[in-house]
Amino acid sequence: MALPLPGGPVIARPALGRRPGAAYDDERLRTPLRHCPGGTLSDLDAFIAGLPKAELHVHHVGSASPRIVAELAARHPDSAVPTDPEALADFFTFRDFAHFIQVYLSVVDLIRDAADVRLLTYEVARDMARQNIRYAELTVTPFSSTSRGIPDAAFVEAIEDARKAAEAELGVVLRWCFDIPGEAGLAAAEETTRIACELQPEGLVSFGLGGPEVGVPRGQFTPYFDRAIAAGLHSVPHAGETTGPQTIWDALHELRAERVGHGTSAVQDPKLLAHLAEHAIPLEVCPTSNIATRAVRTLNEHPIKEMAEAGLLLTVNSDDPPMFGTDLNTEYGVAARLLGLDTDGVAALAKNAVTASFMDAPSKARLAAEIDAYTAARRA
Ligand SMILES: [Zn+2]
Repeated sequence: MALPLPGGPVIARPALGRRPGAAYDDERLRTPLRHCPGGTLSDLDAFIAGLPKAELHVHHVGSASPRIVAELAARHPDSAVPTDPEALADFFTFRDFAHFIQVYLSVVDLIRDAADVRLLTYEVARDMARQNIRYAELTVTPFSSTSRGIPDAAFVEAIEDARKAAEAELGVVLRWCFDIPGEAGLAAAEETTRIACELQPEGLVSFGLGGPEVGVPRGQFTPYFDRAIAAGLHSVPHAGETTGPQTIWDALHELRAERVGHGTSAVQDPKLLAHLAEHAIPLEVCPTSNIATRAVRTLNEHPIKEMAEAGLLLTVNSDDPPMFGTDLNTEYGVAARLLGLDTDGVAALAKNAVTASFMDAPSKARLAAEIDAYTAARRA
């Protein structure tokens, strides 16, 4: 997702004539667990809820749930964010993209020191544990904290401390993708690269590029990606979310992308689809996010099925889950319905995320075996 920095430019998305929230009326495709009357889950949703999962495209600040925001707001009573649970739930109800920006910036304003960073990170892992997410590559934007006065070393220490505690206490393995907020330009790219390469925390595995795509050519970031790759990081830029397939080609050629964030517009270019399939370059697909940002008009029109039919290595992800009124389990439910998957199909989708992750081989084998054991036990 395109995430704005405080005070940074907010790029207006083209209006497509959809009334805000319209895509959310499609209950056939979208059956969030928490909206099931009486708490009855479909068999598939129950299977998904218990399935061990990995998530590869999810943002740090964008994962702040109302519960976490309430805790942060309690630390900073001068903020404008409501602390009353009902008012906070209303504040968080996704209405449109402009409202998402407002919520996002309000949360950014609550992250003022290293203790806030540590709290946010650990509590995000707690929300992941509740969904049976075992492993996540969390996209972190150090620049949005360091530019607000949190020292880089303190920031890195806070996320690393939370990472170790989350693994020991919650059983959630966190890894970092440090991303350049593209709209903040080359100064932000330099700062992100410097922090990644000089401080290189133990949990850091990859280097990304977020923010708006329109008017932010990928190629200007080549030198920064070159440095990050030389330091041993994997390249995982966002591309083709709100722009056409050329941006994905640029990410592949100019930023040496090993995985692509979104890549939604790949379906417009058969040559690109063939290239992604041939080289097994995974896409990080985030269906509800694409609707929320209007990159895709409705879930029924989401191109995930065309991507699957082209033989792409697809992973399903939640992007900025509470802010888009979703979570990873809900996204698996959406993908399963769009792709017509049964429980074995959903398990295969979960194993795609393991394959596409930057875990070491023994960890991949362990999580894949856990998925197989769960699926076999549910079948029995
Ligand atoms: Zn994103």
